[in-house]
Amino acid sequence: MIRIIGGGLAGSEAAWQAASQGVPVTLYEMRPVRPTAVHKTDRLAELVCSNSLRGDKLDNAVGLLKEEMRRLGSLVMRAAEASRVPAGAALAVDRERFAEAVTSALTDHPLVTIVRDEITSIPDSNALEPVIVATGPLTSDALSSDIAQLVGAGHLYFYDAISPIVLAETIDRSKVFRASRWGRSLRTNPGPAAQGFSPACAVDDGDGDYLNCPLTRDEYERFYDALAAAESATVHDFDKERFFEGCLPIEVMAHRGRDTLRFGPMKPVGLVDPRTGREPYAVVQLRQDNLAGDHFSLVGFQTQIKWSDQARVLRLIPGLDQAEFVRFGMVHRNTYVNAPTVLAETWQVRRRPSLLFAGQMSGVEGYVESAASGLIAGLNAAALVKGEPPSVPPRTTAIGALAYYVSHADPAHYQPSNITFGIMEPLHASGGAPRGRMARKLALSERALADLQTWIDARASRCVSEISGA
Ligand SMILES: Cc1cc2nc3c(=O)[nH]c(=O)nc-3n(C[C@H](O)[C@H](O)[C@H](O)COP(=O)(O)OP(=O)(O)OC[C@H]3O[C@@H](n4cnc5c(N)ncnc54)[C@H](O)[C@@H]3O)c2cc1C
Repeated sequence: MIRIIGGGLAGSEAAWQAASQGVPVTLYEMRPVRPTAVHKTDRLAELVCSNSLRGDKLDNAVGLLKEEMRRLGSLVMRAAEASRVPAGAALAVDRERFAEAVTSALTDHPLVTIVRDEITSIPDSNALEPVIVATGPLTSDALSSDIAQLVGAGHLYFYDAISPIVLAETIDRSKVFRASRWGRSLRTNPGPAAQGFSPACAVDDGDGDYLNCPLTRDEYERFYDALAAAESATVHDFDKERFFEGCLPIEVMAHRGRDTLRFGPMKPVGLVDPRTGREPYAVVQLRQDNLAGDHFSLVGFQTQIKWSDQARVLRLIPGLDQAEFVRFGMVHRNTYVNAPTVLAETWQVRRRPSLLFAGQMSGVEGYVESAASGLIAGLNAAALVKGEPPSVPPRTTAIGALAYYVSHADPAHYQPSNITFGIMEPLHASGGAPRGRMARKLALSERALADLQTWIDARASRCVSEISGA
């Protein structure tokens, strides 16, 4: 029997996969007995925010991930198809129908028992009775404390502070200049903000090229006044005092004093504008955010100002007057382990292989990625019960790349990740990459699906030979 804690995207998918392998599952979900600050219903797999599962084409990494999940018999994908609403190239769903489809599939499954109760400590586990923790970003406090005891308090994070991201082509290059602070890397002494916390929080680490938006005194004053007046979004009932000091929202810093930002993320020292030969009064730094170079994030600009106000205030920064925002800043509760120190590629806890983590808690980001990790955790927990070796699709697949990222990323700067082609094994490693971005993406997807099929066939033949005693 497998115990799964948390009936969200990951836990529901894990339960389905394990039960589909013929292994009985008990799924513990604390709602409605104990609500979270964000969920609104008692349904399993409730989508807490957007109703979009993002892109659904093979020229898009999350589209590939979804196709892989379909081929692995995903319940989340089946429910999404059944509740699909028009959304162009994306897969968006009617959220109520979606959650209902997942809930009824699991309720009706003869091998799944659903218990509505909060689990406050990690249950005992062994290979015949593995446990999967899939309690998500809003894991209840009691269980969070127990997880912190297991993994070490320094390896469990509670908040994500996210800086806004702008579309590169909308930055006015005539107003910004390219430079790193002091023209050199400061990485040898990263400071507390960069130690173990979100890189989004770190002020210029000096590593690589930055686009710098210089502000005169007048421009700074205007920006400061607008920021101080902007309305903060309500952060549900999260404990507002628990921001990391090295990761404060810009509006919190602004309220501490008129010049606080000029000594924090907007400090100009070491950044000489080549057009004036002088350091500006203040600077906002933009750091390339993806390999393609078409997204830049505002360094140290985590904020929880309402999105409508964010656009207005941030467009007061010279160079960003016409900026289009790919993502706005956010500060939200997000409980997750430092996966590379805690987890193996199979989503098993390294020091306790009969315990698995899945979903956002395991250090992935997003609905689809959470369900994908639940899918593999469910299969692997079932494998343990059946005395089979746990396994993961190869790194050339989206699901395998996610597993590799979670278990091998740099633990010093670990942040949950969405799936991107950038974390998959590049094409040249296995011979011959086509020219052109679109052709390369499609080739990556084609290779992934072929390699996934080989993995599926190998698992199936292992089962057949075990049944026949070969
Ligand atoms: C505010 C917010 C907005 C988000 N918006 C998006 C978005 O728009 N798009 C996107 O792709 N991702 C979004 N995410 C990120 C993330 O992908 C989702 O939170 C996703 O639901 C994670 O799946 P999960 O299964 O890990 O957790 P969840 O879906 O949250 O499921 C975890 C479940 O565990 C239950 N639980 C918690 N503690 C216990 C306990 N002790 N005992 C029993 N049950 C427990 C919870 O009630 C919940 O049902 C958002 C996250 C947050 C916090």
